[in-house]
Amino acid sequence: MKHKNEETWCQSHLADQQLHQLLEKVDADLAEEACQQGCLYCEGKLHRADYDRKPRGGPQWERRYSFCCAQEDCRRRRTPESVRFLGRRVYAGLVVVLITVMVHGLKPSRVRRIREALQIDSRTLKRWRQWWLDNFVRSSFWKAARARFMPLVCEQRLPLSLWLSFELEERDRLLAVLGFLKPITTPAAWKELAM
Ligand SMILES: [Zn+2]
Repeated sequence: MKHKNEETWCQSHLADQQLHQLLEKVDADLAEEACQQGCLYCEGKLHRADYDRKPRGGPQWERRYSFCCAQEDCRRRRTPESVRFLGRRVYAGLVVVLITVMVHGLKPSRVRRIREALQIDSRTLKRWRQWWLDNFVRSSFWKAARARFMPLVCEQRLPLSLWLSFELEERDRLLAVLGFLKPITTPAAWKELAM
């Protein structure tokens, strides 16, 4: 299964306001849930202490939800999982996922066109593709999670193989993939996956 018009397909998701709102809603729910659970270290109350973000090439989400423990002697942070931000990348998670899925197997000239339209430089895109094949495949998250897939996900064809293993309509599929990846989006988990 290959899309006939990858550019249009990708651009339409990147411009899909409803999808952006949906992802925002999911993140707000995840934040609410984390807040209600309180501090992981001392069970103290949490206060909002969001991170400022300036994501490129996608929706202009300016805050990543985060909290700080209100206890004087603790003050530790708790940053909930997210379907919008993939670790500390400057691009939103959906941009990284969509582009790396879309350019899989395309001719270099087409890859360049797409890249230029989205203003992503070639080194960045190369790094993203390599990230799936190296850091992601080696991560403890993936080693534990891959057993859930039957048939197995082909690791050499990531992330397209992961994308295709969620047999859903397109927008739901994107939500499912971002939801699947959310455990690796917290600062603590991201340490292992950063490159
Ligand atoms: Zn605390």
